[in-house]
This record gives sequence, C-alpha cells and structure tokens, in this order.
Amino acid sequence: MEEKPGKLRKTKNDNGNTGAGRVLDTVKIDQKVVEGGRQAGSSSGREAKAARKQEPGKRESAGETTRSGSSGDELSNTGTRKKRRLGARDVVASPPGGVGGLASSIKETRLQARMSVQGFEFNKKRVRLISEAVEMKDGSESIVYWMSRDQRVQDNWALLYSQHLALSHELPLHVCFCLVPRFLDATIRHFGFMLRGLEEVAKAVDWEQARSSLEVDCSVKEVDWARPGTEAGLAMLESFIMERLKLFGSDRNNPNRPALSNLSPWFHFGQVSVQRAVLEVRKCSSKYLQSVNSFIEEAVVRRELADNFCYYNKNYDCVEGASDWARKTLQDHAQDERSHLYSRAQLEAGKTHDPLWNAAQLQMTLEGKMHGFLRMYWAKKILEWTSSPEEALETALYLNDRYELDGRDPNGYVGCMWSICGIHDQGWGERPVFGKIRFMNYAGCKRKFDVGQFERKYHPEKFTV
Ligand SMILES: Cc1cc2nc3c(=O)[nH]c(=O)nc-3n(C[C@H](O)[C@H](O)[C@H](O)COP(=O)(O)OP(=O)(O)OC[C@H]3O[C@@H](n4cnc5c(N)ncnc54)[C@H](O)[C@@H]3O)c2cc1C
Repeated sequence: MEEKPGKLRKTKNDNGNTGAGRVLDTVKIDQKVVEGGRQAGSSSGREAKAARKQEPGKRESAGETTRSGSSGDELSNTGTRKKRRLGARDVVASPPGGVGGLASSIKETRLQARMSVQGFEFNKKRVRLISEAVEMKDGSESIVYWMSRDQRVQDNWALLYSQHLALSHELPLHVCFCLVPRFLDATIRHFGFMLRGLEEVAKAVDWEQARSSLEVDCSVKEVDWARPGTEAGLAMLESFIMERLKLFGSDRNNPNRPALSNLSPWFHFGQVSVQRAVLEVRKCSSKYLQSVNSFIEEAVVRRELADNFCYYNKNYDCVEGASDWARKTLQDHAQDERSHLYSRAQLEAGKTHDPLWNAAQLQMTLEGKMHGFLRMYWAKKILEWTSSPEEALETALYLNDRYELDGRDPNGYVGCMWSICGIHDQGWGERPVFGKIRFMNYAGCKRKFDVGQFERKYHPEKFTV
C-alpha cells in the first residue's frame, strides 16, 4: 500500500476508522466537555481499503451521520457559543466509581501536572501530521477527534491534543467513533467488550441500538472475568500491582500461578494506557525490581517490537514475512512426515492426543485468554501437526483471533510468527518439521510447571462445551 510520509499503516488490530461505518452518536466527558459527533468528511479510497483490515469499529458502506452536539466551549448547552476557557474539572473525567485508590491517585497526579490541558506544552515532534493541511483553515468550525485504537478519555494523548487545539482556537470538539456491523472473524466476545468499554466513554448513546446493529457470530460467548472499560481495567491494574506483581519476575511462565497482569484485553481495546500501567508499575521498583523490569520488557519492548514489525512489514501475517533463514528452513522441511495431522475442526474442538494442548485450547475458548507461556507451546504444536507452515500459521491466527479477547493485535501476529516462523528469534538445532525454528515439547513444559495441575483444571469433562 502506498503511504504518505508519516502516515501510519493500519493493521488488522488498528481500531482506526475511516469515515466508513456508523458514527456513534455522542461522546460526553465529565458530563460537559466533549459532545460529538458529526462525521468528519469522507474518506479517501486508500483509507477505505485500509478499513477492510480494521478492528470492529468500521464498515465499508457509506457512513451514517448522526447529529452534532454541543461541545467543549458550548458548555451551557444553549447552542450559543460561549467563549469560556476550560479548567481542570472540565478536562478530567470523574474518577471511576468503585475503583480503589489507584484511579483517584492517578487523577490527583494528573491535576498536579496541569490544571488545564491548555497549559500543557505538547512536544510537537511527537505530533504526527497525517493530512496535507499544516495549518488550521480560516473559518474552521470544529475540531474532530476520530476515536479508534485508544478507546478511552483519560491518558489519551491524541484526544488531549485535540482538546488543546479546540480550546486554543475556541472551537467545538467532536469525538467520532465508527461502528461496523462485522469485522473479519471478530465475534460478540470482541464486539461486546468493545461496546461496553465505549459505554463508559460516551453516556448519551443508544447502546442497545448500536448492539442490535451488529451482524456478528454470537456463538463465542462473552467472558465474565474481564469487565470492559477503563474503570475495570484500572482495577485490574491495581490488583496486579497489589497482588501479582511480586510473582511476575519469578513465576510468569508458570500457568498455574497468578503472576500475569491480565491486562491485554484492556490494552488491546485501548481502554487502559500501557504508558500509564508502566508508570504505575514502575513505582514498585524498589520493592520488586526484577518483576518491574520484566513487565517493562514485555509491555514496552516486546509490545513495541510487535507494533513495529506489523507497521514496517506488509507480510506481517504470512510466511513471506519471515526472515530468509526461516523461510528456507521451513521450506526444506515442508515435506517431512508429521507425527500427527489434525484438521482445523479437531484443533478447534481441542481433540488432539496431547492433554496439555487441549487444556490450553479450552482455556482460550472458554475464558478468552490463554496463558502467555502456553501460547508459544500451543502455536508450535500447530506447526508440528498440520501439513505445511502456511496452514499452521493460518490456523493459529484463525483460532487466536476468534477466541482470544486480545486477538487481532500486533502481539498476536508476531506471537504466531515467532512461534511458527522464527520472527525475532534465531536458528536452533535442526530437527524434522521445525528445521531450525525453536522447538518446544511436552517434557520441557513438565520441567517448568506442574502440567497435570493445569490439565486437571481445564479438563473437558469438567465443562460443558
Ligand atoms: C502464539 C501467540 C499468540 C499471541 N497472541 C496475542 C494476541 O492475540 N494479543 C496479544 O495482546 N498478545 C498476544 N500474544 C503475546 C502474549 O502472550 C500476550 O500479550 C500475553 O499473554 C497477554 O497476557 P497479559 O496481559 O496477562 O500479559 P503480561 O505477561 O502481564 O504482559 C503485560 C503486557 O505485555 C505485553 N506482552 C507480553 N508478552 C508479550 C509478547 N510476547 N509479545 C508482545 N507483547 C507482549 C502485552 O501487551 C501484555 O498485556 C501472543 C503470544 C503468542 C506466543
């Protein structure tokens, strides 16, 4: 896809929307700051093409435009534009009710940083122009923030910058979000999480109507352990810091231990800022240095490697995207005899000879989140048990994106590419099927954790699937 300098290439995870789709009605922050949203013009052909690869949030039919509401400087809702400067109370949403001390302390930190977004000096080097226009046109009537990957009000740099612009130019600020009725293989598990998260962003929208406009597969159920939205995401962050962080450094590769942050669904839908999570976790450096460093390695280094891989490599989700050595070794072993061959349906149903693999698959289908360590084992076994690396990668991505709540994410593409195609890895000792791609086996898992305990917990007989 041809790109303009500085223009972000959008991958399948990108919640960016393009003017295609149903513009959700209104965004209201702290009951007064931002109300939205008239659709901001039509999208270019290129954007429409990119929209085909977007997260639930866009469709390709003509956009349905709804009303424009009152806005940042029309706080009285009278319709007459009052030239009033907004203060911190306007900028900062109410602390999420029900969340413990973390949300309130974050709010306090924000207020201490600046009383108003207008007083904040943005680093212009970090503002990326994606349109031809450099200056605001004379006679502009409003600023539009097109909500996409970051589906939150707070800790959202682009929204803050839009608000800053709106205040500086004394213009209304509109926030738009485009909802498409279906997107790739996303199911109600994904759409439900996204919509319920957006409910927290925008109160005055007919959410029932939005939900009924969906045309998605409802057979993959929503999960109840992960409550959508920023409020619940921050509560998950808080519980991680209080209860699990101490184990993260030592036990994050043990699927039987509660050591992970579990934040990936909120990160994926942009309901919690990764930067905020890192800033909060880092406060525990003196107590849990090893854990803090490991968390930063994953949430920043690994995650951004994945983002960059998908940004720069247009074959980010196929074998052609792998390095030469990996493609060659996979090709050299493409004809090797497989010890087992399973169809997609058998894998999906968790019906293999390997009880650990079946248990991991069941954890994913039931709970929408497979443990991170098992994801590697799971994907590598798909390479071992399907007839070609291409089929393995397609199958892994299909299952991952259908059942993982954090699916269709650069981390997912790179996770599957790492496991099957050696991305960000090196060559290892050569062996059948895998060639030089790193190998994992059941015995290795047994050395790392109590495999039987995990298999018993996710035994198919315990669940009606
Ligand atoms: C085959 C395979 C498929 C995967 N699919 C996905 C996916 O669809 N979506 C997804 O978000 N992640 C995916 N991952 C990466 C990783 O397994 C998950 O991010 C992690 O398990 C999410 O759980 P957590 O938030 O509790 O992670 P934690 O261990 O608490 O880590 C915190 C955060 O760091 C980031 N992170 C952790 N591990 C990685 C990693 N290996 N690569 C990049 N970022 C990482 C994530 O943003 C994660 O939320 C996949 C990995 C593999 C091997």
